[in-house]
Amino acid sequence: MNLILLGPPGAGKGTQAVRIAERNRLTALSSGDILRGEIRAGSDVGQRAAPFVQSGGLVPDEIITAVMLAGLRRLPAGQGFILDGFPRTVAQAEALTAGLAAAGIRIDAVLNFHLDDAQIVRRIAGRRTCGSCQATYNVHFLPPRSPDVCDRCGSALVQRADDREDVVQNRLATYRQQTAPLVDYYRKIGLLKNIDAAAVPEHVEQQVARVLDGLGG
Ligand SMILES: [Zn+2]
Repeated sequence: MNLILLGPPGAGKGTQAVRIAERNRLTALSSGDILRGEIRAGSDVGQRAAPFVQSGGLVPDEIITAVMLAGLRRLPAGQGFILDGFPRTVAQAEALTAGLAAAGIRIDAVLNFHLDDAQIVRRIAGRRTCGSCQATYNVHFLPPRSPDVCDRCGSALVQRADDREDVVQNRLATYRQQTAPLVDYYRKIGLLKNIDAAAVPEHVEQQVARVLDGLGG
């Protein structure tokens, strides 16, 4: 079984990727891991990607797609995988579809984790972390007993710069512009399965299990 996960930041995709991989004995592959692996291995595609990574620039679509295909080809024959964080654009998805077809690899389903913008902002912008013991809280869902004070150790809670509401809104705008069109792309080729990511993680996991059980037939 080969899967692709789609969804905005804050939808819990990373958590689910780990659980789906364990339950179905799949290898979870992130674009960052494969990219670093190919660069470290000094492969042909790794060498082409390295200058972009070193300069902090975006790796062009055709190179990142070649990197991902190289990473997939390193998997043992028959080992199923989950792609999380790739593709990010329709151009990457088209190149991936062509490359996989050429390699005789089939995607069985694309799981689309749906969460509306207001819920995403509450989840991410509500996060607080203890600067000392790293305990995590959410001002909406898991508030500390006293505002901005860690229940465990009494230290001050902080909000990561990445989690500030304006930053979250920017990340969401990028997602809506670049990645949301992938939902239509995969719907048109009949692979899209919608998952309601607003549920608690256990219920999200059950929805995913039902979808994957339905793929067998
Ligand atoms: Zn603490």
